[in-house]
Amino acid sequence: MGYLQTTTACISLVYRTQRVVYKNMRCPFCSCDTTKVVDKRDNREDSSTRRRRQCLRCGKRFTTYERIEKVDISIVKKDGSLEKFDVEKIIKGIKRAINQHSIPDSDIYAFAEEVEKHVFNSEEPISSRDIGVMILNWLREKDPLAYIRFASVYKDFKDLNDIKEEIANLEKK
Ligand SMILES: [Zn+2]
Repeated sequence: MGYLQTTTACISLVYRTQRVVYKNMRCPFCSCDTTKVVDKRDNREDSSTRRRRQCLRCGKRFTTYERIEKVDISIVKKDGSLEKFDVEKIIKGIKRAINQHSIPDSDIYAFAEEVEKHVFNSEEPISSRDIGVMILNWLREKDPLAYIRFASVYKDFKDLNDIKEEIANLEKK
């Protein structure tokens, strides 16, 4: 029973995200809580929402940032150990593999977000290998040269023949 309870608690912890909402945002100038939102902008990079507000009493404007705080989730590494999932690693890995700006940042962020969603919504634990394969499949379409670069690190190519083989596979498609 105790075990079951713990399991359920863990699952709900993993899938829960916390949304910080300030319903009655107080004006920093006069502490009045009747404010209205005059502008709203979503920032894709850190998935935050910026709201420009105006106090209905004193008329002054101020800015608030709202973001979803994600609960840590782990992925399974090659050796079976767990590692905290970090979307930044995906972005960095792709940026290291591509040539300057061969793929626009917005595309990379959108893809990283997709991977993140997949990891957070999966019923089964995701492995670093699964993530590597997702990245490889995506890069293959976007930028074949970056694909080879990423694959040479990811698949741990030992020599030129490994690369030649990978290129041959790439050309078959
Ligand atoms: Zn005010």
